[in-house]
Amino acid sequence: LVTEALERIDADTHNAFITVDAEGARAAARAADAERAAGRAGPLAGLPMAHKDIFCTDGLKTSCGSRMLDSFVAPYDATVVERMAGAGLVNLGKTNMDEFAMGSSNETSYYGPVRNPWDPQAVPGGSSGGSAAAVAAGLVPGTTGTDTGGSIRQPAALCGVTGLKPTYGRVSRWGMIAFASSLDQAGPMARTAEDCALLLGAMAGFDERDSTSLQEPVPDYTEGLGRSLEGLRIGLPKEYFGSGLDAGTARALEAAIEEFRGLGAEIREVSLPHAELAVPTYYVIAPAECSSNLSRFDGVRYGHRCQDPEDLEDLYKRSRGEGFGDEVKRRVMVGTYALSAGYFDAYYLKAQRMRRLIKNDFMAAFEEVDLLLGPTAPGPAFNIGEKTDPVSMYLSDIYTIAANLAGLPAMSVPAGLVDGRPVGLQLIGNYFDEPGLLNAAHRYQ
Ligand code: GLN
Repeated sequence: LVTEALERIDADTHNAFITVDAEGARAAARAADAERAAGRAGPLAGLPMAHKDIFCTDGLKTSCGSRMLDSFVAPYDATVVERMAGAGLVNLGKTNMDEFAMGSSNETSYYGPVRNPWDPQAVPGGSSGGSAAAVAAGLVPGTTGTDTGGSIRQPAALCGVTGLKPTYGRVSRWGMIAFASSLDQAGPMARTAEDCALLLGAMAGFDERDSTSLQEPVPDYTEGLGRSLEGLRIGLPKEYFGSGLDAGTARALEAAIEEFRGLGAEIREVSLPHAELAVPTYYVIAPAECSSNLSRFDGVRYGHRCQDPEDLEDLYKRSRGEGFGDEVKRRVMVGTYALSAGYFDAYYLKAQRMRRLIKNDFMAAFEEVDLLLGPTAPGPAFNIGEKTDPVSMYLSDIYTIAANLAGLPAMSVPAGLVDGRPVGLQLIGNYFDEPGLLNAAHRYQ
């Protein structure tokens, strides 16, 4: 399997990978074979997969899609990398992504855009665009992604694969390069909910090295798959079916809702009254945290350093000026402004209050229903180069961001094609209800 996957990656034209580690993969595959021969191998042993290039990998380049880290080789494995390798999964390399996970189209990558396997003109979504495309193109059966505002779910939708953002704190962030720490969460991307369940089981769990990791036992996520949906209460947030949603996507969702009804689910309308605050809240909090997290890239300790700096200030300015791309610079500037002394109350503090209102909306909805169902993205994939202004790009995540602000688990499941391009449906669950999400998705699939 590993040999076959390496051959496919070699022949692939979607630019899904930044780094391929054929040698490391072959060695890991041999080790998995030996475990199997000794009768010690688990169910995932020897299966090929790939990590988003945001996870530190010992001895292997970790670029985070940025020129800043083009020559960075991590001296250790992220917890997610370590755990998945421990389960016998074979990492074939590092997938392409938007620079520092900022973007919704994979076009901000220093390594060039990824092409959507359904149509090479189309973006794969982002920021985990390489991970989504690698699964959609059949290069590997599963990948890891990270989701700060939609970066697992939106590319999964645009590439016709399944992706899960777990409850915040479910998967360790240790060794995952930080973008917005209070929102970032790693999760699996694969063809089916069942594959996501297997991968999540290998990723999740308490980690004392991540202070926001939760001490909650990890269930066997495959165990309950197949349970009946009879009587499951699914809420349709009415704010998610308004005029922002493309007509073809709305039709695909209607058909999916009918299928859920046929499976025995009870469908009800619910309201998330502060839904329209999600994007503005996110674009204060995420840049604020990013400006703080990215201050470590100063040309001294990590990554790109400019040639012949005149003094310390010149070193900082030119190293960061050359190392970061436009979108990253925009976020650092917005975030620094929002956190500055005179503006902190007006922006950051206010955004934190809005965040609480958004969370309270979900808590009220989960008094009435078990799961929420809506679109993942406003429409199918757009073309590479089509969206040029940042705000229209930011609106790609209008339906995904709220789950990050509230810390809730959410997933995207393929829901058909619109003009030949895939669209996804999103399921949002209560805290730690990954089993409920996975089962609903599994029954639907
Ligand atoms: N598209 C959003 C952004 O650019 C979300 C990215 C993410 O989830 N990493 O910030």
